Amino acid sequence: MSETRELLILGGGLVGMTTALAAARKGISSHVVDMADPAALTQDGFDGRASAISTASWNLFANIGLADRLAPQGCPIEAIAVTDAMLPGRIDFRPEPHANSHEGSLGYMFANQVLRIALFEAARAEPLIAWHAPARVVSRQRGAHGVSATLASGETLHARLMVAAEGRRSPTRDEAGIKLSHWDYRHRAIITGLTHEKPHDNVAWEIFYPAGPFALLPMLDGPEGEHRSALVWTVAEKDAAGVLALSDRGFLAEVDKRMQGTFGQVHLNSARTSYPLSYQRTARITAERLALVGDAAHGIHPIAGQGLNLGLRDVGALVEVLVDGMRLGLDPGDAQLLARYERWRSLDSFSVAAATDAITHLFGIPGRAASAIRRLGMAGVQRSGILKRFFMDEARGVSGRLPELLQG
Ligand SMILES: Cc1cc2nc3c(=O)[nH]c(=O)nc-3n(C[C@H](O)[C@H](O)[C@H](O)COP(=O)(O)OP(=O)(O)OC[C@H]3O[C@@H](n4cnc5c(N)ncnc54)[C@H](O)[C@@H]3O)c2cc1C
Repeated sequence: MSETRELLILGGGLVGMTTALAAARKGISSHVVDMADPAALTQDGFDGRASAISTASWNLFANIGLADRLAPQGCPIEAIAVTDAMLPGRIDFRPEPHANSHEGSLGYMFANQVLRIALFEAARAEPLIAWHAPARVVSRQRGAHGVSATLASGETLHARLMVAAEGRRSPTRDEAGIKLSHWDYRHRAIITGLTHEKPHDNVAWEIFYPAGPFALLPMLDGPEGEHRSALVWTVAEKDAAGVLALSDRGFLAEVDKRMQGTFGQVHLNSARTSYPLSYQRTARITAERLALVGDAAHGIHPIAGQGLNLGLRDVGALVEVLVDGMRLGLDPGDAQLLARYERWRSLDSFSVAAATDAITHLFGIPGRAASAIRRLGMAGVQRSGILKRFFMDEARGVSGRLPELLQG
């Protein structure tokens, strides 16, 4: 029988593994179980996405010791340009040059592969993490005195608190009977990498078309100095197969039409992949000796690049609650601690999920009248220092009560 650890983290993706590392940095031990082979999760082509990492999430990576490893591979986002189909009336979010320390950039763009490799390397070197992967969980138990999971190998892992980090289809959440609201946007995000003639100047572009947002996210220049961006193009589900089947030339012509020459000539630099988009949110994020983190608790539209950032705020809050409780001699699975985690995270995750959903619907309304009203509203935001600052703080992830691990 393996030793009893404090946490049993089911799912060792970006959020699950960050939970294990953040806990370990505070002296909390864990078992991490993932059904996938880590070599497969980090190989080229497994996940071609890039993530906008907010300033607060960056602080978390820095506070768990990943700054030196990650900093050279992240592209700073210095401004965000939001436009309605490239029509006049765009909003530019660009922090003031002489503002407070946390106001430098609006975050960083990282390839998911880079984040995963850095987390996995750190986890391998951390004795407080016992990593079981690939491993299949065949049964889970939660009771008054502890939790356990039995693996297909026959081994049973024991701990005090179970953390479900298995993403949107979390079987641990479903087994716990936690209810989920869910709807399908009938949208699909098409992902690819682009190289382009003109530099992006570290600007992230969010171009809203009624069929879905078209986002160009700045990436570091390539080895030959080629300028690069990550494209996330949302299309209606019914059109996705056709867009994916276009020849490279045909696809680039469609991309070019939507970029309207912003970056000059454009080329593809990676394969196209796609993700179906849906909204889901659980009614609760805790149960007896169980806490949900990341997409297991909330899955949102990638329109504002906030899904992972929300999950990383779950990590910071959960670890802080556990550290505070354990300092007082409480068990990590104590119901009072879980209630505090639940209270702390519910407002943030509800408001981000609701705002993301509202933006998705607002920009999806077709027609000139709707566009004119939207652009009027955008012009108002562009002129209002207070509103701009509010939105920039949201993008940086620094509004609300931030867990200590996410502070600079
Ligand atoms: C197109 C797109 C673009 C996005 N861009 C951004 C962005 O710019 N910024 C941002 O913040 N967010 C972004 N997101 C959201 C972000 O990718 C997710 O929120 C994030 O990946 C969730 O991480 P997770 O670890 O919770 O879940 P997952 O990434 O789904 O990881 C779950 C892990 O659990 C494992 N697992 C699953 N089931 C089991 C099981 N039964 N037993 C054991 N292990 C299991 C899996 O193998 C996996 O390793 C984007 C999402 C999409 C679709």
